[in-house]
Amino acid sequence: MQAFQFENLATRVRFGSGSLLHLREEVARLGATRVIVLTTPQQISLADRAEHLLGDVAVARFTDAAMHTPQAVTQLALERVREAGVDGIVSLGGGSTIGLGKAIALRTGLPHITVPTTYAGSEMTPILGETDAGRKVTQRQPVIQPRAVLYDVDLTLSLPIAASVTSGLNAIAHAVEALYAAEGNPITSMLAEAGIRSFAQALPRLHTDPADRDAREQALYGAWLCGTCLGQVGMALHHKLCHTLGGTFGLPHAETHSVVLPHAIAYNAVASVAMDRIARALGTDQAPALALFELGQQLGAPAALRDLGMPEAGIAQAADLAAANPYPNPRPIERDALEALLRRAWAGSPPLA
Ligand code: NAD
Repeated sequence: MQAFQFENLATRVRFGSGSLLHLREEVARLGATRVIVLTTPQQISLADRAEHLLGDVAVARFTDAAMHTPQAVTQLALERVREAGVDGIVSLGGGSTIGLGKAIALRTGLPHITVPTTYAGSEMTPILGETDAGRKVTQRQPVIQPRAVLYDVDLTLSLPIAASVTSGLNAIAHAVEALYAAEGNPITSMLAEAGIRSFAQALPRLHTDPADRDAREQALYGAWLCGTCLGQVGMALHHKLCHTLGGTFGLPHAETHSVVLPHAIAYNAVASVAMDRIARALGTDQAPALALFELGQQLGAPAALRDLGMPEAGIAQAADLAAANPYPNPRPIERDALEALLRRAWAGSPPLA
């Protein structure tokens, strides 16, 4: 066996139907007595429920979390934190809300407990991407990692099926890139394969019946595994491309991941051990790039960047940006090959075999 390094990240997890009911107990376990409740304008009823469960421990709320964690929004939330003398953070929602909780934890050192309601996986990572003046800057620090996570399948039943599919493909992307990461290790690879398998089984069932509780549970479990992969090892070409496209052209996060993933896998097909594991997890004899493209089609996921608002004229610029700073990737980054990849993704063509 090859030598490797592995770091366990310390997050307490409580998984299962109704786990939200343990919110007050879990907050107390962190020693917090005055918390702020965070969410988005679309999930205010969830903040209401959390406050009801927390009673007098909830002393402030902020319901304007926004995509890509704008620093101006964080400043407004921090004012609320200071005014109310808060000593803990409770975030309920997807990656946008969790990002706000992380941004506050980074600046205050306060303990953060989160209740994820999508499959994006941010709850399991010490990573924070923030935007300011149209620029997204990402950092990785232990203080960013939430201290506790409550995975409650009941709260994911309301996630619309289109968002469930793209969020699931976003999660699969974390696991795929963990399988060929420079810091890859057997433990993370085991989690990655199990995470991909969970979604490959759950998403078609959810597509048939979005209220299928078993499938919802399997998807949420997959989200935990895939998010853990993202937290443990560095990502490669796929995440670089999505970061570039999201940051430069404002493309929606999960949808962009869904479109780019089959093409990034095709580009990295040289990573043959990872490809075998992805195919095994998907339960397919096909090349994994093609199998994932077809899975996306079957589930009604977007296939073309042009349908997400990407201008054709931006393809060359995106290739320049994604090739500008070197980063570890199984196949060397070649600018012209990236442009060809992006052109296919823009048009919605199948990935190159
Ligand atoms: P999101 O948090 O932006 O949520 C999208 C919308 O869906 C919001 O309006 C939200 O309120 C709503 N929603 C969420 N869960 C719902 C539910 N169960 N029912 C009904 N509506 C629901 O989407 P996302 O894809 O989870 O997060 C994207 C953001 O997360 C991006 O900014 C991305 O950069 C970040 N992210 C960060 C990491 C990390 O490790 N730092 C990892 C993944 C994603």
